[in-house]
Amino acid sequence: MHNDLQRMLTDIKNEVHFTRSYIGRNALSERVMNAMAEVPRDEFVPDHLKHQAFDNCPLPIGYHQTISQPYIVALMTDLLELKPDHKVLEIGTGCGYQTAVLARLCAEVYTIERIAELSHMAIDHFIKLQYRNIVTQIGNGYQGWPEHAPYDGIVVTASASHIPEPLIEQLKPGGNLVIPVGLPQMHQELLLLKKDLHEELTVDSILPVAFVPLIDDKIRHPAHHTLQ
Ligand code: SAH
Repeated sequence: MHNDLQRMLTDIKNEVHFTRSYIGRNALSERVMNAMAEVPRDEFVPDHLKHQAFDNCPLPIGYHQTISQPYIVALMTDLLELKPDHKVLEIGTGCGYQTAVLARLCAEVYTIERIAELSHMAIDHFIKLQYRNIVTQIGNGYQGWPEHAPYDGIVVTASASHIPEPLIEQLKPGGNLVIPVGLPQMHQELLLLKKDLHEELTVDSILPVAFVPLIDDKIRHPAHHTLQ
């Protein structure tokens, strides 16, 4: 393994250790850390930022969006508790980095991105790296993807003002939903919602975070909605 990737993994482990009182554990699962070691983050960042690709920080990917911080990607993935036969829904594909990490850990990944150019960029990365278990959609992920529901896990990689109801409905009993909640520039919390086998919901606040906003196009562009 090359040095930059090794450094990234060490930085993630250190940050997990520093935040152990928030996240309730001292280390992430070995499966997740292996997936972080296998996905080449440099393939997902723009050319002019390749030299920072393995830094433990978010980076701009264009269109006012970011590739998430590796520690956050690892933590959110860990909270999903994925098994090899699981089906997962991701809202906010971006450049596809988290999608690729998820794809190494479960059977099928469905991912929705509202910015077409980013979705196309992600698809190019998936083809180059030969991922065959990822299905993409361009659209508003607030509504989820009912055709393939229910999902064993759902991860939202943009911050909403509340947990979208359609996503809770599309979560399988026994499944986990991970989502940052809070308004842009304001306090945001990473939440873990669990739906138990009796469909009872529990929500835990994990730690303060900073994400780009989840944009619910239906509300912001009503004219567009009537055309659908
Ligand atoms: N998962 C990415 C993070 C991308 S940033 C990673 O691995 O780095 C969050 C993404 O969510 C942005 O690309 C943004 O365009 C997208 N997004 C925001 N609101 C959305 C919505 N309602 N539906 C789908 N995608 C959305």
